[in-house]
Amino acid sequence: MNWQMKCVICHDFIEPDRDKYGHIIWHGGHNPSPITDEGYCCKVCNDEIVTPTRIAEIQLSIKGGKDG
Ligand SMILES: [Zn+2]
Repeated sequence: MNWQMKCVICHDFIEPDRDKYGHIIWHGGHNPSPITDEGYCCKVCNDEIVTPTRIAEIQLSIKGGKDG
């Protein structure tokens, strides 16, 4: 089975998420939206880039949607 997926943001191979015992708990990658709508990203990019961007976009949309 080929689980070698590449992160669309850093272009590195996506490492599986592991629990504190080292057991693989998730190896599906993460949704890179709103950075991009295609492919998957790794946990590092998800935590450091995608999630902050998503929060910023939500805050912008809340501000932008008030005058209507
Ligand atoms: Zn990445």
